[in-house]
Amino acid sequence: MLTIDAEAQSARILELFREIFPGADIGSFIGGEIVAGSGASLDLTDPASGQVFASFADAGAAQIDAAMDAAEAAQREWMAMPAAARGRIMWAIAGQIRAHAPIIAEIESRSAGRPIRDIRGEALRVAEMFEYYAGWCDKIYGNTIPVPSSHFNYTRQEPIGVVMQITPWNAPLFTGGWQIAPAICAGNGVVIKPSELTPLSTLILGRMCELGGAPRGLVNVIAGAGPTAGQAGVTHPKTGLVVFVGSAQAGSAIAAAAAKNTVPCVLELGGKSANIVFPDADLDRAIVGAQAAIFAGAGQSCVAGSRLLVHTSVRDRFVDAYADAASRIAIGHPFDEGTHVGPINNLRQWQKIGQMVQAGVAEGAHIAAGGARPEALEGTGGFYYAPTILDGVTPGMSVAREEIFGPVVSVLTFETEEEAIALANDNPYGLAGAVWTADVGRAHRIAAAVRAGTFWVNSYKTINVCSPFGGFGRSGYGRSSGAEALMAYTQTKSVWVETAENPPVSFGYAPG
Ligand code: NAD
Repeated sequence: MLTIDAEAQSARILELFREIFPGADIGSFIGGEIVAGSGASLDLTDPASGQVFASFADAGAAQIDAAMDAAEAAQREWMAMPAAARGRIMWAIAGQIRAHAPIIAEIESRSAGRPIRDIRGEALRVAEMFEYYAGWCDKIYGNTIPVPSSHFNYTRQEPIGVVMQITPWNAPLFTGGWQIAPAICAGNGVVIKPSELTPLSTLILGRMCELGGAPRGLVNVIAGAGPTAGQAGVTHPKTGLVVFVGSAQAGSAIAAAAAKNTVPCVLELGGKSANIVFPDADLDRAIVGAQAAIFAGAGQSCVAGSRLLVHTSVRDRFVDAYADAASRIAIGHPFDEGTHVGPINNLRQWQKIGQMVQAGVAEGAHIAAGGARPEALEGTGGFYYAPTILDGVTPGMSVAREEIFGPVVSVLTFETEEEAIALANDNPYGLAGAVWTADVGRAHRIAAAVRAGTFWVNSYKTINVCSPFGGFGRSGYGRSSGAEALMAYTQTKSVWVETAENPPVSFGYAPG
């Protein structure tokens, strides 16, 4: 089994960081420079060993001011360019990401604890995000509207100005690209604050934007904590839109703080998604899908299929095979090519997972697989948690209701289609869901009836920048991918031009 000692990890990460930012230490990326923070010291911990590998000072409020100023000035420069030129720069940013993909993937794998075999592909997915939106830059336009007066009326989709983005620790690279690309495509300047636990790959994305030719300061990346730097960005007078990806609890507090300045939000929050298996499904494929749904990324995925709803007639067979497959998943060091499931990102989350599993057992669930740190990884100090199946879960249990955000699936059963739909919808979240069935009519009925922003039929987990992604219910609002994101990242202006030779002179409101 691969182990990397703390000193080697520390040295390698600094070496990778300095390939992108020569001579610099970790800090915020503002106006094209790495700037040291002035706040409390924050540690970066290797999830595979539990050892601190780097520290940096929290960005102070002065850094938020500087980042906002830089984003505001660069945004004007950006919008002064022809739209097609902005598109070419976005394409060039994608090229920089592709060229630096090995460094980006290695730093993300080592610092966030994500399996290298997943992350190599992910770096390329992030390049695709910029390529997709490169094509949109010169296709953002309004309408002409046949108003009932002598006016020519048209609309313009205008950028908001400076957008404050806040992202979580579970997929910092992916989430960073997912948010930065549509924001700059729509003509905005960006101040983005990744989680204080995983700032490195987002810092690199900021630099890739600059290397691709974006004006210095168009994308600023803040290395800092939520309640300090994040809060200062949300309430900053120059912030025109807040885009938040993270927990429902923090999201609701952030939306309330933004609302005080009448600043709108896009909220991409958590989930408790239902993965529904009917007896007519291809059960072998459904078992593979149910593993991907919850064990990929060690379950630290907002769309994780954390509730498995299985028809009573196939439950025993399904759970036996599912548990057998779960116990054979390769779990280990994220930088090991053979690893499918890496560690949990941080100690607090690892402890939360253990506590929630114990609460489930106390409420009557039983463990069909996993339920602890794998024995083979005991001595590593890493935050490993075995792929876990909780069987015999009933709808009222905490493990059926609350997001665990780890490799833990709760198995519930149903008898009828109506019961499956009612169970799926018996949760305030509404991020995603899936159904496995051979019946086409049923697949579409269920896709329509389940309250979720994304739904799969005989599949799980595929998302793409081309398609809108976001939540229903407590999973949030607004969309930050696909063409729909361009509506969130722009505002509509209605322009009225009088065309009559001798228009009637009206005083005040003219109803047309
Ligand atoms: P979190 O809410 O604790 O933190 C997310 C981000 O918000 C971090 O950058 C943090 O520093 C910042 N933050 C926290 N409090 C803040 C405050 N008061 N003001 C400003 N910023 C603040 O979430 P987490 O633990 O980092 O991530 C896990 C959560 O993210 C899960 O609930 C998961 O489902 C969710 N998530 C959602 C999506 C999605 O697209 N829907 C994607 C990934 C993760």
